[in-house]
Amino acid sequence: MSRAFNFSPGPAMLPEPVLRQAQAEMLDWHGVGASIVELSHRGPEFIGVAAEAEADLRKLVGIPDDYAVLFLQGGATAQQALVALNFAEPGQAADYVISGHWGKTAIKQVKPYVDARIAATSEADGFRNIPDPSTWRLSDDAAYVHITANETIHGVEFRDTPKVGTVPLFADFSSSIASEPLDVSKYGLIYAGAQKNLGPVGIAVVIVRRELLERAGQPRADIFDYRSHLKGESMLNTPPTWNWYLAGLTFKWMLAEGGVQEFARRNAQKSKMLYAAIDGSGGFYRNEVDPAVRSRMNVPFFLYDEALDKAFLKESAAAGLMALKGHRALGGMRASIYNAMPVEGVQALVDFMRDFRERHG
Ligand code: PMP
Repeated sequence: MSRAFNFSPGPAMLPEPVLRQAQAEMLDWHGVGASIVELSHRGPEFIGVAAEAEADLRKLVGIPDDYAVLFLQGGATAQQALVALNFAEPGQAADYVISGHWGKTAIKQVKPYVDARIAATSEADGFRNIPDPSTWRLSDDAAYVHITANETIHGVEFRDTPKVGTVPLFADFSSSIASEPLDVSKYGLIYAGAQKNLGPVGIAVVIVRRELLERAGQPRADIFDYRSHLKGESMLNTPPTWNWYLAGLTFKWMLAEGGVQEFARRNAQKSKMLYAAIDGSGGFYRNEVDPAVRSRMNVPFFLYDEALDKAFLKESAAAGLMALKGHRALGGMRASIYNAMPVEGVQALVDFMRDFRERHG
């Protein structure tokens, strides 16, 4: 068996030790005679797994006690809709800063519920930038300001937390959570689908300042109510136990590797290596994002002649470098280099890119 270096944007590469542990525990979890995924979510075994996952995530990300943590289904997209139902009155203003594709999906999800306003957008610039916060048109009466911390497709990442005054800042951290230290207290709410940095697809994490849960929000079913989920310990209905368990193993792995400080170091090193290979290629490869906001997680790049794309993908796959094809909205290539991607994987990619350029340049 040989595992490739997998540059998939998500579902993404998981740490091998996590997969091995899941494999070892698959048939008989901790001697109970069954897999964890065959046990009741209300039994002591799974309750323990869930509680440990929350404690580990709190430690990993540095989540203060006055923030609640929810583990939910529906992916990041469901949270994009639910934030309006839970925190805005019907038709209330909500401000969105759009720096890529996922900011656009976020605003689309809330259109039925709020007066969704584009406070700023870099679309005219092809999402190669983040609009300067001094130019944002923020509304005093907004329920919240929403940003996408890292745009997975366009490869654009906020490098500082913007100041938005007294209106709470909500952020989609799906593709960058736990990749570096984060001051949670600057945000009202953070959400993330797990399938990039936190583990498998099928579970999403919501981190919310508890006092915001006192807002009335809008008429909604219990299952769409964050307060009810908190009261029910994220088990209002049968939760995705397997996904939650795998995420928990991934949190433990990240803590054992040195936590977010260590991942910040590795991620800085990996992204620097890759951008240097692109920028130093004499135009053979190019990344068009403003260097000040280039993503450390997702690196889109183009070959100088797109006729070479097919050969690049075929030869990279043959070299054990998987899933480098860019998103269909942009074309070209994209390397997603989340926490589970080792430095050696990026080194292998950079070596391949040099070799490919020498043969085709
Ligand atoms: N936001 C961002 C930043 C994403 O990268 C994605 C998925 N790639 C989503 C939201 C949507 O996530 P999901 O498919 O879990 O709903």
